[in-house]
Amino acid sequence: MMSATPEVPYGRKTQRAPDLKEVHILWMTAGLGCDGDSVSITAATQPSIEDVILGAIPGLPKVHLHNPVLAYENGDEFQAIFHQAANGKLDNFVLVVEGSIPNENISGEGYWAAQGEDPVTKQPIKTTEWIDRLAPKALAVVGAGTCATYGGIHAMQGNPTGCMGLNDYLGWEWKSRAGLPVVNVPGCPVQPDNFMETLLYLLYQLAGLAPMIPLDEVGRPKWLFTRTVHDGCDRGSSYEQAIFADEYGSPNCIVKLGCWGPVVQCNVPKRGWMAGIGGCPNVGGICIGCTMPGFPDKFMPFMDEPPGALISTKAVQIHGSWIRKLRGFTNSTLNKEPKWRHNRDELTTGYHQP
Ligand code: SF4
Ligand code: SF4
Repeated sequence: MMSATPEVPYGRKTQRAPDLKEVHILWMTAGLGCDGDSVSITAATQPSIEDVILGAIPGLPKVHLHNPVLAYENGDEFQAIFHQAANGKLDNFVLVVEGSIPNENISGEGYWAAQGEDPVTKQPIKTTEWIDRLAPKALAVVGAGTCATYGGIHAMQGNPTGCMGLNDYLGWEWKSRAGLPVVNVPGCPVQPDNFMETLLYLLYQLAGLAPMIPLDEVGRPKWLFTRTVHDGCDRGSSYEQAIFADEYGSPNCIVKLGCWGPVVQCNVPKRGWMAGIGGCPNVGGICIGCTMPGFPDKFMPFMDEPPGALISTKAVQIHGSWIRKLRGFTNSTLNKEPKWRHNRDELTTGYHQP
């Protein structure tokens, strides 16, 4: 007689339920921004958005993404979950902010940025009001892109909004109720896989499968933002040998055309943009430092040679041309086959019969 007990595969033992079963990602694009980071992450593949939402990696919390660029819901239906969270009726959400945070202390009777409408007052709900209400209740707060993280291009000198990044707004010592500092994933826009990898790390952490996310002193994930652009640029050998481009289109180092790569923390040239394709200086575009807290003012005008580059390229010039000559000599030797590879009636390889 057949047993009534349903058969459970033995391998099921390897499956562990996540500490947190489900998580909502409340993604506000209502900062001063362009939605470029929301668009950018649709190009991710490791993992892709679809992978995360469909739960391609087992053992992680089920993800409900609420991003206005990608949501099915519209209008009030889309806003509902934000109200629910703000009213303390959602205890498992991560807040993602995209765009800079305006200074509403100087906006007078109006507002610089808002999302949705207050059901009672019928007035727009300011982006800052949402952050005030949601951040203390969130498991984690994540800045997507340089505007949300450090102010970015909208916080440029001369802007009328006095805008800033999340830490400037919440405070650099701010911690979420789960004990996480603001997680900053800069980039203008954010590199697709950089963001999705960080999100994936947070899911592992919330599942109870990873330690506290390692962040540097300005909140960046360490594994993505410790090394410089120059560290991962495949034009570095041209720099080292003092072969500098003097016009765009050259395959050589473009530091004299304005590349800030040696002093900018970013992994784009090493990683490529999508699936290893593209990038910045590695494919001929000067690095303008778009991931850095000092961006853009400290890098402008972009197309001038960075001041520090004048000294360092001069220093490299002295030994670079010698190294190039010596390498050229060795290289021409290596381009010749050893002399025992021939078709004559004799063996000249040095082989001796044992
Ligand atoms: S192009 Fe920029 S990042 Fe690349 S080697 Fe030159 S200075 Fe460094
Ligand atoms: S290489 Fe430079 S310009 Fe390109 S994404 Fe990184 S920081 Fe921005």
